[in-house]
Amino acid sequence: MNYNIAVIHGDGIGPEVVEETLLVLNAIGEKYGHTFQYTPVLAGGCAIDETGDCLPQETIDVCKKSDAVLLGAVGGWKWDTLPGEKRPEMALLGLRKELGLFANLRPAILFDELMDACPLKPEIVAGGLDIAVVRELTGGIYFGEKGRKETPLGTAGYDIKQYAVDEVKRIAKIAFDMAIKRNNHVTSVDKANVLESSRVWREVVNEVAKDYPSVTLDHLYVDNAAMQLVREPKQFDVILTGNMFGDILSDEASMITGSIGMLPSASLATGNFGMYEPIHGSAPDIAGQNKANPMATILSASMMLRYTFGLQEEADCIENAVKSVLKAGYRTPDLYQSDKEADILVGTKEAGAHIVAAIKA
Ligand code: NAD
Repeated sequence: MNYNIAVIHGDGIGPEVVEETLLVLNAIGEKYGHTFQYTPVLAGGCAIDETGDCLPQETIDVCKKSDAVLLGAVGGWKWDTLPGEKRPEMALLGLRKELGLFANLRPAILFDELMDACPLKPEIVAGGLDIAVVRELTGGIYFGEKGRKETPLGTAGYDIKQYAVDEVKRIAKIAFDMAIKRNNHVTSVDKANVLESSRVWREVVNEVAKDYPSVTLDHLYVDNAAMQLVREPKQFDVILTGNMFGDILSDEASMITGSIGMLPSASLATGNFGMYEPIHGSAPDIAGQNKANPMATILSASMMLRYTFGLQEEADCIENAVKSVLKAGYRTPDLYQSDKEADILVGTKEAGAHIVAAIKA
């Protein structure tokens, strides 16, 4: 098959980790007889330098015409003094809005080989962790009416949180569909003891659950969910939640899996279209030094194969290749422990080359 991918290298370590990912995709293409066609487009700081705009219209057009988007990272010190609305990171919000990316999926996987990078006690994470956080991305308090008004206590700032039935329905379906492909368990997180928007959320999730009789659904208040994630993370399979709670919980979930350089993400629109990117930023402190861990971006590409292209075997192949490279002891600096004899220090390019070799093996 032929697949068209818009590629946003971005800034900092973005180009380095994306280049390794394209080599991995090429290896998959060769092995399974697919052609991945890449169209590079600009977004972020490099786009500001070249066009004056962090998200040129041409980028939006190319992304819309493609089957999926692969993004490295945007931003960096060079553009830090620009006013908020002109910063490179605005490109991310623009892409979400323009491409209708309403669902954010962040798997938090703790590989056996990286168990000692986890800040939790070994007995809590024995056997590894595999949690998928499904976060609503274009609604809720971040997109509600906001402003300032005078009150008897002085000027007040306000942000309105609102969720409509259809908004909840479509994200809930994503979570249940995902649970079916995993361990048939959805935990919906809200604050229904206090918030009316959460009560609507809960009612709709209960309705959607009726179409998925094989999936077990439970509900947790967000404060309890934050606690349970560090107390007993193995109880979770798919966590379904709104924009703000998901923002916070997905960062918490990612931290318990060790390095930020390992974690992929997908942002999905209606249908199969999606944008795939590592959860980390452009890491200007290590950019251009062959030190970045490319695995988060490579695993994002495996999510692209799985969720947009429906290529399960190919996605498994990438994930198994990453695991085998970790098992062989290869570690980029973010994972390397000098006192561990089995660890072999490698750079971005070498890590990528080992993954390509494992795919071809
Ligand atoms: P960051 O994720 O870029 O870096 C945080 C720390 O993690 C740094 O020490 C960095 O060296 C390390 N790190 C990150 N990715 C790594 C990798 N693949 N391998 C090894 N180490 C890695 O976050 P930050 O420093 O807060 O932000 C830097 C820039 O990135 C800022 O301009 C920020 O706005 C931007 N940013 C962009 C995105 C995005 O494009 N999606 C996300 C977050 C931050």
